[in-house]
Amino acid sequence: MSCPCKSQKNYEECCKPYHMGELQPSDALLLMRSRYSAYALGLAEYIIETTHPTHPEMGKKIWDWREDILRFSRDTEFVDLEILSFEESEMEAFVTFTASLKQQDKDFSYTEKSLFEKQGELWLYKDAEFL
Ligand SMILES: [Zn+2]
Repeated sequence: MSCPCKSQKNYEECCKPYHMGELQPSDALLLMRSRYSAYALGLAEYIIETTHPTHPEMGKKIWDWREDILRFSRDTEFVDLEILSFEESEMEAFVTFTASLKQQDKDFSYTEKSLFEKQGELWLYKDAEFL
């Protein structure tokens, strides 16, 4: 199957090794794409594991959050992903993207600037600003 992150690559050669824990995304852009495809595939654990410990969602009961992610995945059609910009420094990165989404045939698209932070060797999703 083609990867749900819309890279035009095969899922096996794109986000699957990240989802399976075989590889770590080497930059924040790959992490961002793998999170989009994880939402599309309903991989709640991956979303939780790649979120920074200081993110507000982390304070919620993990079980409720997992349910929220699964509901969002189930109710959403992941139509497209467009990367608008990617800036990376040693410890921080920003990815601006437009996610084209549909819920019950209604357009649910948004543009977001996501902040990622490096913890050790791992990039984690930290925060977002909706544009
Ligand atoms: Zn992918």
